[in-house]
Amino acid sequence: MAKITRRPLTKSKPTPPQRVKKSRNRPAAGQGLEKSAKKPATKLGPSRATKKSIKAIKPWTPAEVREAFSRFRKANPEPKGELEHLNPYTLLVAVVLSAQATDAGVNKATRELFRVADTPQKMLALGEERLRDYIKTIGLYRNKAKNVIALSEKLLAEFGGVVPRTRAELESLPGAGRKTANVVLNMAYGERTMAVDTHVFRVGNRTGLAPGNTPLEVELELERVIPAEFMLHAHHWLILHGRYTCLARKPRCEVCLINDLCRWPEKTV
Ligand code: SF4
Repeated sequence: MAKITRRPLTKSKPTPPQRVKKSRNRPAAGQGLEKSAKKPATKLGPSRATKKSIKAIKPWTPAEVREAFSRFRKANPEPKGELEHLNPYTLLVAVVLSAQATDAGVNKATRELFRVADTPQKMLALGEERLRDYIKTIGLYRNKAKNVIALSEKLLAEFGGVVPRTRAELESLPGAGRKTANVVLNMAYGERTMAVDTHVFRVGNRTGLAPGNTPLEVELELERVIPAEFMLHAHHWLILHGRYTCLARKPRCEVCLINDLCRWPEKTV
């Protein structure tokens, strides 16, 4: 599991751009926080020099939070996740495969895979060895193939072949953790959950919207501050914001929709 650590905010001593090692299997949106991911810690939050000052950062007011999400909604009323899937089962498999991998890389493999295996029954008929062939371009594919076969067996044995709708049941599936459960509950079943991936974690901390030392802290804080009317899509708005605007190394503050609200002392506007 990729351990995400928060770097504190600083005004007085700007830090250089974050150094995230380039990796073919670097975490993508919705990725990197699951059971099977085993990567060294990646620093994604604000810099250490300002750890003390994080408590001094003025929290967002409810009006500011509402304003930010109103802007996200206006710019993109129906945000979509970028992991391709056909049904709740293929969504579950795609999320499990996406730990420490990019959505684009997972999609490339699953486009062919889901043509032949879009149900637990078909996945078991395909078998682990052939499954490995389909997903061998994805990092950690051997372990992931094992998990996909095991979760398919469990779905058939305990859930009638249907992807369950509760967090506890989802988290009981091999290879699935809290983030997978949140993504499935949100995208497949329309629950107002907040999956915290590397992008959401960074945006929550940098902006000061939801500071936290762990993905769970950021998740709970986001759930606390975001008005219910925005929660269905908030996860995707924040992921897309982190993926395309609030980039880890060079945030594009000049085109950021919320640059006047953001509390990051190092923002460039
Ligand atoms: S102003 Fe810059 S740091 Fe703040 S949210 Fe926007 S892109 Fe990120």
